[in-house]
Amino acid sequence: MLLCPLTAVSTFENLKRFSFFQPSGSRVGTACTTNKLALFSLCCGQRTAAVSPPGLLTDRSGTTSNEPGKSTIHTSEEMEGLLKAIQDLESSLGNAKNEAVRQHLQSACAVMRNAVEDHRGPVVDQLARLTALPEAIVSCRPPSVALSGSSAKEPSEGLSPLPPPLDGALAEEVKTWSFDIHKIAAAELPTLCFGVMMQHPAVTRVLPQLSLHRLWRFVQVVGSRYRDNPFHSFRHAVDVTLGISCLLRWLQEAQPTLLSDLQVVAALVAAMVHDTDHPGVMNNFLVATRHPLAVLYNQQSVLENHHIATAMALASRPELDWISPLPASEQAELRKVMIELVLATDPTTHMPFMKRFMEDVAAQTVTPMQAMAAMLKGADISNPTRPLSVYAVWVEGIMKEFFAQGDAERTLGLPISMNCDRESVNVNKCQVGFITFLVSPIWKGIAQLIPAQGPQLLAELETNLEHYKALAA
Ligand SMILES: [Zn+2]
Repeated sequence: MLLCPLTAVSTFENLKRFSFFQPSGSRVGTACTTNKLALFSLCCGQRTAAVSPPGLLTDRSGTTSNEPGKSTIHTSEEMEGLLKAIQDLESSLGNAKNEAVRQHLQSACAVMRNAVEDHRGPVVDQLARLTALPEAIVSCRPPSVALSGSSAKEPSEGLSPLPPPLDGALAEEVKTWSFDIHKIAAAELPTLCFGVMMQHPAVTRVLPQLSLHRLWRFVQVVGSRYRDNPFHSFRHAVDVTLGISCLLRWLQEAQPTLLSDLQVVAALVAAMVHDTDHPGVMNNFLVATRHPLAVLYNQQSVLENHHIATAMALASRPELDWISPLPASEQAELRKVMIELVLATDPTTHMPFMKRFMEDVAAQTVTPMQAMAAMLKGADISNPTRPLSVYAVWVEGIMKEFFAQGDAERTLGLPISMNCDRESVNVNKCQVGFITFLVSPIWKGIAQLIPAQGPQLLAELETNLEHYKALAA
């Protein structure tokens, strides 16, 4: 029986290499696959020079019959041809005169057949087509990568000094709902994000000095893990953090005892990490393409799991571990709340959440978790509650991202997802539907938790709805 150890290279890497070994340790063959082709060769030495039968392994490199044969496989049809040739060879082995050679060939054929079967049909074609897609989709990786060290964009090692507090004018401006995040330079976003967190007295009450230094580095590194997507960028993450910062402050004014300091910290950081390493496509795309992340998370809340798992993996790097200086019970609580909040941003769980949330708003029995989840979800889709000039820029970004997914789906021959077909979608109608069915219901609930600010936010939402209704007419 031959062994077939596979190198630990994920499916979407450019190169995947196999080596086939006998129990004695001698190598009998290799196979390499890339996104576009598969290259098989049997390297069997003198004893098995006859392993390259005519028709099975086509020699395209001018090697002699004593050297390993090679066959380059470009299509699934060629894959099928190779598989049939291997099966033909296997069935002819009974005629071999040398028993040792026969056994060797039989085992080598079995290994080759398994390798071909692993890469036959749609997998080969799919990998080839994926090379045409944006790099972000193909290269998005499980969170173990986050443990493997710093990327070029990340800040250098060492305890970095904390940035100065936000200055007077900006410090007040970020506390208003009309703040325009688009006017902030990308390089300034980490400072702004950390500065807004530090405006909450809860942060310095909960986190010791060491945690604050590590949190500052964590903000910078998480920021560097966001991709330059048209919508799901670090700018969006900071926008959501600023949004939840306002909502938390207003909720604390309305119900001073509802949230603990620890929960405020968890909600602020959850907002900052809630889309970490977003690839710019939706869950359904990852599931449909059998992306490694969809496999890893069993097709359940794939992106949301990826965002929080990547953030938690980063937070386990010693220089970024802002959680471990806390007492054990607080660490556990922080992690639990952050995970729950980020997972709550999965749109597929929105309807059951809303039903319960609205019932509890009406009964005035909203729990801290419900309030925080509603505020994170609300902040995540808060663009239509902002001034139109700010909102419109986000509309352009999200539609660009949706259409890129639609283009990718068209390339792959997949059904084009809702709102993603640039040839048929009406952007204005799209926004009317978004506000009517998603944004408006949750914001009506949130508005009741923050009675002093709620009416103004709902009025802005209504104005924007009318604007897009008029454009859609
Ligand atoms: Zn988001």
